[in-house]
Amino acid sequence: MHELSIALGIVKNAEDELRKVKANLVDEIELEIGSLAGVEFNSLDFVWPSAVENTILHSAKRTINTIPGQASCLECHVDFKIENHFDNCPECGSPFKEIVQGRELRVKSLLVS
Ligand SMILES: [Zn+2]
Repeated sequence: MHELSIALGIVKNAEDELRKVKANLVDEIELEIGSLAGVEFNSLDFVWPSAVENTILHSAKRTINTIPGQASCLECHVDFKIENHFDNCPECGSPFKEIVQGRELRVKSLLVS
C-alpha cells in the first residue's frame, strides 16, 4: 500500500533526525502534508500503528497540518486555489499552471525525550 511506504518513510526520516540529536523517543511528531501530495489520510491513519510499532515513534502523538493546493496560471499569471491536478485556471480557463503549494510531505517538528 502506498500510504504504508509513506508512513515508513516518515519513520525513517524521524530516526535519522533523532540520531543527530542522540535522542531515542519521540513524544510528538508534526507532519505537513499537502492536499495534492497524493496521500489518502484515512489510509495513512490505518497503516500508522503498524508502521510505528517497535520504532521511536511508537508512542508519539501525531499532528497533521494539511497544506491547501495553490497554483499559478502560466497564461494569465493569476494565483488560485487548486483542489486537484486537473483544475483549470478560474480566470482564463487555461490548463497550464505551476503548482506552487500543496505537494509537501514532510516532518515539520519532532518533540523528543
Ligand atoms: Zn489563467
